Amino acid sequence: MNDGVPERLARLRAEIGEAARAAGRSPQDIILVGVSKKQPLEPIRAAIEAGLGDIGESYVQEAALKFGSLPPVRKHYIGHIQTNKAKRIAELFDSVQSVDREDAARALARAASGLGKVLPVLIQLNISSADRFGVLPDAAERLAEAIRAEPSLRLDGVMAIGPDTPDRAEIARAFALAAKTLAHVGGSTLSIGMSGDWREAVRAGSTMLRIGTGLFGRRQEPR
Ligand SMILES: *Cc1c(COP(=O)(O)O)cnc(C)c1O
Repeated sequence: MNDGVPERLARLRAEIGEAARAAGRSPQDIILVGVSKKQPLEPIRAAIEAGLGDIGESYVQEAALKFGSLPPVRKHYIGHIQTNKAKRIAELFDSVQSVDREDAARALARAASGLGKVLPVLIQLNISSADRFGVLPDAAERLAEAIRAEPSLRLDGVMAIGPDTPDRAEIARAFALAAKTLAHVGGSTLSIGMSGDWREAVRAGSTMLRIGTGLFGRRQEPR
């Protein structure tokens, strides 16, 4: 069932554009990252061929298996960083959105340096009590300094996962905190908004939406 993906991509882009304009923003200022974890290859390929320029993956091994069969596309690592996987992550991905502690930053920096590349990264903020990962907003500035001290990393901004709640006001408050923290951290990328909360994210100033099920449909069961 992959023949619906180009249509779904077009519809999603139109809806994002509308929401952006309603918020007084330009649709071009919002990058759509298709989160392709636990999705089969065919729909991912179809989306890229239909113009999707960015994909996100959370599992290193799964990504390594899939990437060889995909057309050129920008690849974002959005999963938890295990330091012993830093080298693989730096090899496979064009950007890492989930830097949430200094030892992860150092491991990535070492790996990127060994590859002779400068890796764009985001600091993952914890803005929801249910999230197991991410640095608390109060500690983000210190982590930012540590990242800036690494010549092989380039700090572009912040990423966060919104709270898992039906309370739209609570989601908006959490996203506002992420936006405020970006101002302290520096950079211009605010990666907030997933399938269930991207409208609140657009209103809060998101420059990067990470959408999985809303584009590709339900994920495959864990193996
Ligand atoms: C899975 C995942 C997404 C996409 O979630 P959907 O609800 O499927 O849109 C976005 N960001 C991160 C960090 C994820 O792990």
